[in-house]
Amino acid sequence: MTLPGHPHLARDAQGELRLEGHSLADLARRHGTPLYVYSRAAMLDALAGYQRALEGLPHLICYAMKANSNLAVLQTFARAGCGFDIVSGGELERVLAAGAEPSKIVFSGVGKTAAEMRRALEVGVHCFNVESLGELERLAEVAAAMGRRAPVSLRVNPDVDAGTHPYISTGLKDNKFGIPHDEALAAYRRAAALPSLQVIGIDCHIGSQITQLEPYLDALGRLLDLVEAVEAEGIALAHVDVGGGLGITYTDEAPPAPETLVRALAELMRARGHGHRELIVEPGRSLVGNAGVLLAEVQYLKPGETKNFCIVDAAMNDLVRPAMYEAWMAIEPCRPSAGTAAATWDVVGPVCESGDWLGRDRRLAVAPGDIVAVLSAGAYGMAMAGNYNSRPRAAEIMLDGDAVHVVREREDARALFALERLLD
Ligand SMILES: *Cc1c(COP(=O)(O)O)cnc(C)c1O
Repeated sequence: MTLPGHPHLARDAQGELRLEGHSLADLARRHGTPLYVYSRAAMLDALAGYQRALEGLPHLICYAMKANSNLAVLQTFARAGCGFDIVSGGELERVLAAGAEPSKIVFSGVGKTAAEMRRALEVGVHCFNVESLGELERLAEVAAAMGRRAPVSLRVNPDVDAGTHPYISTGLKDNKFGIPHDEALAAYRRAAALPSLQVIGIDCHIGSQITQLEPYLDALGRLLDLVEAVEAEGIALAHVDVGGGLGITYTDEAPPAPETLVRALAELMRARGHGHRELIVEPGRSLVGNAGVLLAEVQYLKPGETKNFCIVDAAMNDLVRPAMYEAWMAIEPCRPSAGTAAATWDVVGPVCESGDWLGRDRRLAVAPGDIVAVLSAGAYGMAMAGNYNSRPRAAEIMLDGDAVHVVREREDARALFALERLLD
C-alpha cells in the first residue's frame, strides 16, 4: 500500500516500509543512522509532471537547487534536461560540477557579490534575477569591466499573500525580496539605459509550500500588467519566470499537482496574449520533498509525568524544519515493533536545545533499536544540515531501481575540525 503523496513509498504485507522496493530498516542497518534515502524515480516522476504540462510551449524548468543540492540529485535533473535556479557562488560551482549547462542557469538572491557576478558572467548563465537597484548598478559595472553584457530579469515583488508560513512567504511588501511592484517600471527604464545590461525577462517568487492556485494566478496577472507597461516603452521581455514554491503533502495538504499549476499559468498567459513568451518555473520542494526520507534509530524511551520522549539519533542539525518552522513531518516506524504498545511520544534528538524536536505528540509503537523514518525529508533536509554539537552530517543514499548508491558518505568527526588550528 503506497502512502498518500509518496508514490514510491509503500508498506508491504508484513508491515515493512519500502522505498522503491528497498526495505528502509535494512538500509539503516547496512549504512547506519541518521541516513537520508532518496528515490530517483520519485524525483523524475515529479519533474515529469512539469515537463508534460510544458511540452510544446517555450519554457525552461530551473530546479531550485537549494532544496537539495547533492551532486547526484543535480546530475539526475541535469541529465533530464533541467536548468537550475541558484542563489550563491557555491551553488554555481556545485551545479557545474554536476554537469549543468550554464545557459540554463538563473541566478537569484538578494546579496550577490561582485565576485559571484564575475564568475556567473564568465561561465555564461542564462540570466541574473536582479532584486534591487543597487544590484543592478553593481552588475552593470562588473559586466562593463569584463566587456560583457549581463542578461537580466528583475525580480518583482507582486505583493500577493501566498497564504503560507510567514518565514517562507516572500511576495509581500515587507519582505526583503524583490523590487516593489510600483517601482519596477522605473527600474526597467534604468536597466535598459545601462549598455552593459541586456534586459531579457521578469520574475517573481512569492513563497514556499503554497497549496493554492490563486496566489500564483494573482502574481502572474500582476507580472503581465508590468510586462505590458514595460514593452509599451520599447523594452522587450522574452521570458516570464513565476518562481517556485509549490507545496507538497506533509500531512493532509492537497496542493495542486504541478501539471495543474502549469496548465493554469499557461492558460492565463495565452488568454492575455502572452502565449509566445518563454515561461520559466523554479520548483524546489515539489521536485524532491516527497522523494526522500530521513532514517533514525530509537535510542531511549523516556516516559514522563506530562510528556513522553522518544529520543532518536537524528536531531535538529540533521533536519531543522520542525525546529525552525514548526513544520509537521510524518514519522513512521520502518517495521512493526513486536509486542510494543503504542503511546504518545515527542520524538526528539540528542542536541542540547529544547527546540531539538522532530515531531510532537506522535502516536507510535516503538522500542529502543527500532528504525523510524521521517517522511517528506527530501527537500530542505540535508541541504540545511549543520554540525551543531559537533555532530557529523548524515550519509545520503540514492535508490535507482535495484541499485543503491551512496551519494554522500557519512561525515567523519575529525573532518569537522580539520580546518582548525591549535595555538602554538
Ligand atoms: C527557494 C526558491 C525557489 C524554490 O522554492 P520551493 O518552495 O522549494 O519550490 C524558487 N525560486 C527562488 C528565487 C527561491 O528562492
